[in-house]
Amino acid sequence: MGKYFKHGCGSPTKGLFILATILILALGTTSMALAGPVVADFVLLNGKVVTVDSNDSIVQAVAVKSGKIIALGTSSEIRSLVGAETRVIDVRGRTVIPGLLDSHGHHARTAMRAGRSVDVSQEAGVDNIADLQEKIRARAATIPKGARISCSKEDDFKLAEKRHPTRWELDEAAPDNPVSVSTVGGHFTIYNSLAFELAGITKDTPDPEGGKFERDPVTGELTGGTHETARRMVSNSLPSVPDLPMEIQMAALKAAMLDWSRNGLTTIYNSGSGALSAMTSLRRQGEQIVRFRTNGSIDALSALGADARGIGDEWIKVVGSKHLMDGACSARTLYMREPFLHRDDDFYGVLTKTKGQIFEELDRAWAAGIRTSTHSNGDAALDIYLDVIEELQKRYPEQTDRRDIIIHCTVTPPDIVARIASLGLFPTIFGAYPWYHGDKLAPAYGEKRLEYMFAVRSFIDAGVGVSAHSDYSASPYPPLMAFQGLVNRVTSGGKPTGQSQKISVMECLRLYTINAAYMYHDEDILGSLEIGKYGDMVVLGEDILTVPTMTLIDVPIDITIVGGEIVFKR
Ligand SMILES: [Zn+2]
Repeated sequence: MGKYFKHGCGSPTKGLFILATILILALGTTSMALAGPVVADFVLLNGKVVTVDSNDSIVQAVAVKSGKIIALGTSSEIRSLVGAETRVIDVRGRTVIPGLLDSHGHHARTAMRAGRSVDVSQEAGVDNIADLQEKIRARAATIPKGARISCSKEDDFKLAEKRHPTRWELDEAAPDNPVSVSTVGGHFTIYNSLAFELAGITKDTPDPEGGKFERDPVTGELTGGTHETARRMVSNSLPSVPDLPMEIQMAALKAAMLDWSRNGLTTIYNSGSGALSAMTSLRRQGEQIVRFRTNGSIDALSALGADARGIGDEWIKVVGSKHLMDGACSARTLYMREPFLHRDDDFYGVLTKTKGQIFEELDRAWAAGIRTSTHSNGDAALDIYLDVIEELQKRYPEQTDRRDIIIHCTVTPPDIVARIASLGLFPTIFGAYPWYHGDKLAPAYGEKRLEYMFAVRSFIDAGVGVSAHSDYSASPYPPLMAFQGLVNRVTSGGKPTGQSQKISVMECLRLYTINAAYMYHDEDILGSLEIGKYGDMVVLGEDILTVPTMTLIDVPIDITIVGGEIVFKR
């Protein structure tokens, strides 16, 4: 990893950094940089402040001015920066870490969807198919016949029947409304009969390229399940669920941001650009409390003059284009070299694009100098992706610091890890999956394969700048759930899963801070507590570095601070 983190500060903070450096030299102190008439806006004293700088330094205190860190040092050193207007918090020995960054998820879309769709997760009280039918029946009673019912977060593994509902079971609940039930991991949706009818899809409809209809093995009749592009064939023909008015979107996003900060998140790398205008409106009102990055189309990014660093500022930035090439991990549809073990039809998963198609897509982005994030999940999909990148690197030799991101990068035997290292790519893996979805993975992937899934240990050892993400709502977003999973490599049911991939708490902290910032070209301003970076930090109720690792998930988040402002306090 070392080579990725030796770059100095870039242009946004260079002035301050140089000023601080000059003062350090002049004063001859360590990191206590500014003295005399300088007054901080915010200081934090008496902490065990884990800075996550390149030496893993721990200091007692931090001072922030105009949103950025101006000094770190002992409490007495920092106290000299306190003036009449300075906000002072004494954390009384508690541990402080940099604000946490979730390097991929669909946080905004999920927040906006609240209210539009029916939550059929176990957390919403659905334990079996009858419960799920009851949820649909209740929604059908409140809307006109023919209006669409869209359900989300279904998880077959958490239903008593251990299977998805069929289309006939959805018909029983709402025969007069088109119904879609999407699964927690995405990529797989079940429709009822009316939905298929409106789309003109019957058992005689062939599977589309990059997709598949589930069928009765004897009669060939559609059973309701649809994969990838087959889902779009149905959903494109259904009436859309109307967008919420802007004030409601803003309120949903505001509530969601508070929840993100309650969990220690200070930056979200969101996928999908749907929430941008609501977020911009909140920012104008001074109500944005979590930094927000999102993807955009190649055309929009080009029109804005974006380069591989994206375009925007410390609060809102469009970071690059997003691409997709295979199925999902928890839906057990990612595209692999060896078949899945839980079914007997030699199922290797779903590849959604040919090599030529993915090359063409990524080439357009490279030609425009736009950085890409590509969902590439299984080893067979990664084989194709890495071939494509190799060709693109040859075609555009001048583009040396793009930091293309591999979203999920789940099944990575040693030869793939080595190839990713030599191509200098940046994977972000599912952080919470070993814990949250761990119990359903073993039957499908097998213990042996789990030893090289979410392979953070292998990536770190190979010097790859890896980070981790929730892919929310595919798994919950509290980062400490990911710490629990990645450090212990056990499932929520208590079973070991891929134990050879265990990492330390400090390594996990890097995944959720500096490594995430680095892969998105944000390392000059975010990701560690250093002079010139924004004062984003989290005060913990217990010491994350010393608690028994099986209690990491329970470490309380006491205070979340963004740019030296307290945005959440327990
Ligand atoms: Zn995603």
